Amino acid sequence: MVGNTPATENYKGRFAPSPTGPLHFGSLIAAVASYLQAAAHQGEWLVRVEDIDPPREISGATESILRSLDAHGFEYPQPLYQSNRLDTYASITNQLLANGNAYCCSCSRKEIHATALHGQTGMIYPGTCRNGANTSLRPATSVRVQTTNKLLKFTDLLQGELHCNLEKDIGDFLIRRGDGLIAYQLAVIADDEAQQITEVVRGIDLLEATFMQIWLQQLLNYHQPAYMHFPVATGTNNQKLSKQTNAPEIDNNRAASNLFQALKWLHQKPEKSLKTASLKDLWAWAGENWNPAVLQGTHSRQMGV
Ligand code: GLU
Repeated sequence: MVGNTPATENYKGRFAPSPTGPLHFGSLIAAVASYLQAAAHQGEWLVRVEDIDPPREISGATESILRSLDAHGFEYPQPLYQSNRLDTYASITNQLLANGNAYCCSCSRKEIHATALHGQTGMIYPGTCRNGANTSLRPATSVRVQTTNKLLKFTDLLQGELHCNLEKDIGDFLIRRGDGLIAYQLAVIADDEAQQITEVVRGIDLLEATFMQIWLQQLLNYHQPAYMHFPVATGTNNQKLSKQTNAPEIDNNRAASNLFQALKWLHQKPEKSLKTASLKDLWAWAGENWNPAVLQGTHSRQMGV
């Protein structure tokens, strides 16, 4: 059930930014939607800094994101930093290897390119190293999870019932990259489990990733949170607003106006009079009126509409 949902015991949601740049309108939407959904359940809202990809990180981005959250009136306990949990991720990777659910891979990108099929989310790994990696050319530094030819299903709270054949549609996916860094898919399920997250609220661009995450949860016997994927915000060029598309940094001096715009974008129809309301009044209005059901089935929305 979405909409004016009753309080659920122990509801825990989270916002998990990667410090690859400052907070922009698209990531503000993710923060606002997950925050209001947690508030509607009288639950907890946690912030998790996904800082496990140093080559993509921008120095100072974590502090800048947290400053923006504070300026917009978000309240949260001390954030969790993924960079402090590398040993945990390594031991989960070893567990999957020991159980035969994962294997080491020595393929280079180039080799995969040459033989792979292209799926919706990129190349589908052809399974070359499934029965043992060929280490005569290079060491097997990456680790892949073995997928199966079975249909995985889940019901998204906004997008309805979804299914995917992991082996055919995505292929054996990486949990440790060739450069030794832990992949997002593994770190995220480790933390959703450790923090006992009950509902994941995030952008629809992570829908495909959800199947990989559910598969890992099943292999590791973890709980499966509920999922709500809301549309992504696009610019006037219809491209998703992201750090990669140079989405502008949110202006902390215009926090109330940003929140108003975010609520409008989320189809919550804030009254015009709220345009000049204080941050506190806007949050109060949003908490009382939050109704994500109006976004059911929508995939993207342009900014400023
Ligand atoms: N770190 C991801 C991002 O910034 C979000 C991950 C998640 O919510 O699971 O896009």
